[in-house]
Amino acid sequence: MWVEDVGEFPLIARLAAIVGRARPDVLVGIGDDAAALDLGGDALVLLTVDSQVEGIHFVRHRIGPRLLGRRLLAVNASDIAAMGGEPTHALVSLVLPPGLELEWIEELYEGLRAEADPLGVSVVGGNVARSGDGVVLDLTLAGRVPRGELLTRAGARPGDRLLVTGTLGGAAAGLWLSGHPGIRIPEGEALLARHLAPTPRVREGRVIATSRLARALIDLSDGLGGDVVHLCDRSGVGVRVYVENLPLAPGVAHVAELSGRAPWELALYGGEDFELLCTAPPPAAEALAERVSAEAGTPASVVGEVLPAAAGRWLLLPDGREVPLTGKGFTHF
Ligand SMILES: [Mg+2]
Repeated sequence: MWVEDVGEFPLIARLAAIVGRARPDVLVGIGDDAAALDLGGDALVLLTVDSQVEGIHFVRHRIGPRLLGRRLLAVNASDIAAMGGEPTHALVSLVLPPGLELEWIEELYEGLRAEADPLGVSVVGGNVARSGDGVVLDLTLAGRVPRGELLTRAGARPGDRLLVTGTLGGAAAGLWLSGHPGIRIPEGEALLARHLAPTPRVREGRVIATSRLARALIDLSDGLGGDVVHLCDRSGVGVRVYVENLPLAPGVAHVAELSGRAPWELALYGGEDFELLCTAPPPAAEALAERVSAEAGTPASVVGEVLPAAAGRWLLLPDGREVPLTGKGFTHF
């Protein structure tokens, strides 16, 4: 049997079964956006790791090293934000082909610093190794969240509303535009930037966590359609997503038309928007949306409701039909 036959998430479950026996200070282990550790003191420690692999996550002649450095930190910071925390320390593992220009890797580090500085993150170590072919970048990010403010994918309850920050479909639209360089639209630059270097919603995550109004939180890396299923799995609940309420990034409808898809398909299954999705009971959900908008400057929209597990997982389409939510997000295998 090959890794690709098992699938990404079943693979993680099999590996967790081998090493999953946890020390008592592990509050959240394998299977959430980040691990949460109780090492004493008034805050919990968060840990996550993510990689950028040449040919899989990026094409070296399509993304400059500066943007790639930003992206390497941003995608990890998003996972810390998805626990309600703020990122603090990073370790970087570089696996580089010997023929790589020195300038390229130095510029990557400039980009890394540009993303790290405003977030208050220090790069405190790493490792360099030689690759046979292609660049592989790994970043381990630590963070902190005050005790009592930790949010995980578990905790959603029937009746909760689903709340998403910002807009959806922008990264997918940018990816499509990057593959069609002859096509220019007014929002093109913004969509390309969204695709290449996403903005982690750290401030928004802190507003959500400090409000103590939310019950569950996840970041949207695979696409809302896939990630909401992860949240439902961990919380043991069903869901109804209101497709009409999905907040489309400007230009997404235009790109959808050009590429022959429905706008909501890009918003649901495009992936890599790195917005946050949380759940909160009905009166609190509206208040929370207003707080995120007022305190972090990012709009937040109610895009669905949490159902009992037995009620299943559904998409309410704009024409009023309900279809099963397939959870077709991005997976590596
Ligand atoms: Mg995540």
